[in-house]
Amino acid sequence: MTNLPDAQGHFGPYGGVFVPETLMTALAELVKEYEAARQDAVFQGELKKLLADFVGRPTPLYFAERLTAHLGGAKIYLKREDLLHTGAHKINNTMGQILLARRMGKKRVIAETGAGQHGVATATAAARFGMECVIYMGETDMKRQALNVTRMKFLGAKVVPVTAGQATLKEAINEAIRDWVTNVRTTHYILGTAYGAHPYPMMVRNFHRVIGEEARRQILEKEGRLPNHLVACVGGGSNAIGLFYAFLEDKDVRMTGVEGGGEGIKPGRHAARFQGGRLGVLQGCKTFLLANDDGQIELTHSISAGLDYAAVGPEHSYLRETGRIDYDFATDDEALEAFQTLAKIEGIIPALESAHAVAQTMKLAPRMDREEVIIANLSGRGDKDVEQVASFLAEK
Ligand SMILES: *Cc1c(COP(=O)(O)O)cnc(C)c1O
Repeated sequence: MTNLPDAQGHFGPYGGVFVPETLMTALAELVKEYEAARQDAVFQGELKKLLADFVGRPTPLYFAERLTAHLGGAKIYLKREDLLHTGAHKINNTMGQILLARRMGKKRVIAETGAGQHGVATATAAARFGMECVIYMGETDMKRQALNVTRMKFLGAKVVPVTAGQATLKEAINEAIRDWVTNVRTTHYILGTAYGAHPYPMMVRNFHRVIGEEARRQILEKEGRLPNHLVACVGGGSNAIGLFYAFLEDKDVRMTGVEGGGEGIKPGRHAARFQGGRLGVLQGCKTFLLANDDGQIELTHSISAGLDYAAVGPEHSYLRETGRIDYDFATDDEALEAFQTLAKIEGIIPALESAHAVAQTMKLAPRMDREEVIIANLSGRGDKDVEQVASFLAEK
């Protein structure tokens, strides 16, 4: 299980490389450089130092004592990725990829962004290494995540609004791929989740594995045992696979990935690819996605921009098929409830994405024994979301 993907990027029937001919050379170069960097103690040492001194690793594994008492079941621990520099797990990956870009002699980086967290993390990495940075962002997302647009500009990035289609993440990725095809000799594309053509799903996973490796060590220190259950939200799937990966061989540790259930599982009103989704190819790989009978990609909706995407990372499709990981969803309303509960009870305002994992935890914990342990991944903090949540609640 842990030696996947194969050399062509397959996780069982999922994954692979579905890109325009012009990108094949760049992807092959990336595979080669990444493999070399992975074996290179200097590269790994530099990344480790950056993660410690610039990014803020290790993050705490925090016992949420009041939430545990409130729910009256399993002990709840939160993995505090929200405390990282720039406010979410995304920066684990961007620091790794910016070092790779430099290694490949690329002076310009581009990225797509949904909620803006990946754009901010990429702009931060580019500023830190003095590289030119262009971020593609859907116009709809620019409106609902205005704070992050401002942050990216201060960090020296150019933010390009994308107006096609739904003007969200999918369209932003299309524009980023178009840019990459045109400028591939000078430019590295820092993809923001465990998605796309090989080697991205594997590489992004590996840059986030540190989350689960730390959590495993920390829970053994604090509880002297492994957790019973892990919970994480799943957009493309990077924070979830980052937490889950170190525990895949621990057969007694159950895992649940939580998708954006939006307004419930009705066509066009949610982003839960494993609920009513199907096998298809989108933006580089074969995986579960939301499409109609003609194969056209369906509209998606989630209150959380970071979960609002029509497809899910190929490794998650595989891990669901093998039965190793369960996938469920939380609706917008459940996420809003969890957002407010965590703020009031624990003094932590979570990102709306992470609030989906908290919502799932709130469903699971009361059904579990008091001796049992849940670890929920708090993938990011909610500063970016407070205005949106406030106006949403006011409307209600
Ligand atoms: C981007 C984002 C997500 C969703 O992306 P994954 O790749 O599925 O982790 C979740 N939480 C936060 C805070 C994010 O910024």
